[in-house]
Amino acid sequence: MAKHSTGGGGDCLFCKITEKKIPSKIVYEDDKMVAFEDINPQAPVHLLLIPRKHISGLLDLTPDEREVISHLFLTLPKLAREKGVAERGFRTVVNSGKDAGQSVFHLHIHLLGGRLLHWPPG
Ligand code: AMP
Ligand code: ZN
Repeated sequence: MAKHSTGGGGDCLFCKITEKKIPSKIVYEDDKMVAFEDINPQAPVHLLLIPRKHISGLLDLTPDEREVISHLFLTLPKLAREKGVAERGFRTVVNSGKDAGQSVFHLHIHLLGGRLLHWPPG
């Protein structure tokens, strides 16, 4: 297990969001994943897509996660269309570790859009 990992449902913030133990603005959910609005949005559209299963980050992926990871990415275009950013474009980001500024150690895909997104990112 990675240094920062927490057991699913333990003290993990995003596990609590999947279990609805803390409130969030959920825009989509099913048996494998939840998508909700970021509490501190960095763009007019800023969603977080997370697996229900606790996975600390990209470095903790194993072949067991093949299905849930593909499901997250296959659901993402639908959410981008629903949020109205598909045509103009959007960005997906997975921060990993300290240098990238990962602050929540439950794997999440940021979906950002609704404004011009600069490159390279800061
Ligand atoms: P990262 O820095 O890549 O780990 O992203 C964590 C993201 O979670 C940040 O963009 C935070 O604004 C967001 N966040 C933290 N707490 C909450 C919360 N309770 N509800 C929604 N988003 C949150
Ligand atoms: Zn978790």
